Amino acid sequence: MTGWRWLFADQLGPHFLDDDEQPVLLIESRRVFERRRFHRRKAHLVLSALRHRAAELGERAQVRRVDTYREGLPRSLKGLSVCAPTTYAARRLVQSLKGVEVLPSRGYAIDEEAFGKWAQRRQGRKLVMEDFYRDVRTYHRLLLEGDGEPVGGRWNYDQDNREPPPRTATLGEATGVQKPWWPQEDEIDEEVRADLDRWAADGVEFIGDDGPRRFAVTRDEALQALESFVTTRLEDFGPYEDAILEDDRWMAHSLLSVPLNLGLLHPVEVARRAEQAWKDGDAGLASTEGFVRQVVGWRDYVWHVYWHFGDDYRRRNQLGARQELPRWFAELDPDGEVQAKCLSSALASVRQDGWAHHIPRLMVLGNWALQRGYDPVEVTDWFHRNFVDGYDWVMVPNVVGMALHADGGAMMTKPYAAGGAYIHRMSNHCGGCRYDPKKRVGDDACPFTAGYWAFLDRNRDEFAGNHRMSRSYAGMGRLKDLEALLEQERHRGTQAP
Ligand code: SF4
Repeated sequence: MTGWRWLFADQLGPHFLDDDEQPVLLIESRRVFERRRFHRRKAHLVLSALRHRAAELGERAQVRRVDTYREGLPRSLKGLSVCAPTTYAARRLVQSLKGVEVLPSRGYAIDEEAFGKWAQRRQGRKLVMEDFYRDVRTYHRLLLEGDGEPVGGRWNYDQDNREPPPRTATLGEATGVQKPWWPQEDEIDEEVRADLDRWAADGVEFIGDDGPRRFAVTRDEALQALESFVTTRLEDFGPYEDAILEDDRWMAHSLLSVPLNLGLLHPVEVARRAEQAWKDGDAGLASTEGFVRQVVGWRDYVWHVYWHFGDDYRRRNQLGARQELPRWFAELDPDGEVQAKCLSSALASVRQDGWAHHIPRLMVLGNWALQRGYDPVEVTDWFHRNFVDGYDWVMVPNVVGMALHADGGAMMTKPYAAGGAYIHRMSNHCGGCRYDPKKRVGDDACPFTAGYWAFLDRNRDEFAGNHRMSRSYAGMGRLKDLEALLEQERHRGTQAP
């Protein structure tokens, strides 16, 4: 019989075990939730997933409910193995435990050694996600013709996949796309909810609203969610993946990031199922390629960037951003102070579900934090604690490298800063907003538009020489009201827009 395998709460799928009989150690640490203030929905999902896995494994599993991981370990660690965990802190812990065998990580399209070799082959050239993604597709033969060329003759269908939103309140009204698959809660969820209520009464603080569980927490549920997505929603995913509708936060998104990041699904299995859906005629090629790019391209790239740049990467702050998060942002606008529609809607989505799709994350919440100079360490922590699919490895590169450009461009060639015109084009928020996306100065000036120019002005030394920003700086040179705009933004302070 194989020895004991210690599974962390994000290693719950079958691919983290060596066979169907391997005994398993699961440790539920309450202190994790005491140390930081997590979203209530996230705490629920993690505990529910762990306890469902324990119930499935039955007598094969030893479950320890303790304060710390160390307390949950058996006295003798001989014969205990663990797949390399997903954070620097957890890796340091398992490596410090004499007797525990630490295996390579699992659950990604390529392993860390292969990524290291890929990065080395670039011989100092910048890491580029697109190149990485093509290599992953080649390695796994995903969406390829027999000769190794991409099906349809193109690797990238982004151009076909960036439609603005339809002129309807929900995507279903425009395309007939079905609602997402929702799980049914059971007695384990009930027990988790009662425990979290008790912890809260004991002083453990949570953030956000509780409510029905929206995401898969078992392998069986994850497979149902995947099947439902590829057969009923993938078709509409691509064209509208970057669009935002105020009354339809789920649109045609897969909602698979939670089960993927809990380790319940393997990304290559998900990409293959999407490929099969395209072959079966359930989804078009552009949409399928856009989805495969997210799952084995972006997701894996972010994972490898997290390890490639080292543990200090999280502390990079090239733009010298030091602003503390104001209460209304940190607490997810609990009193409804925010009047800017795009921002209030994104914060409400996080407050209610611990989730918003990648464009509200990056182009509304991240863009706001970038423009306003919020401290990258605080913003990373905020995303990590508040998003149901947010883990350290997810949020460090996404915030430091992508959203806040705090790494000086190591990950992205230009900052994801945008004014109200972008949000106006890609959402239906602006029509009902008290601000005007075209106005830079005045009572109804859009805070994103004004904030964009103020951001460029503040970081002129950093970006003026970047050829990808030259048009923006040329545009700024033509603004006759720049001084008035900068004065206005200096007075805005940290108040809710
Ligand atoms: Fe957001 Fe500006 Fe549009 Fe209002 S006008 S929704 S603040 S982008």
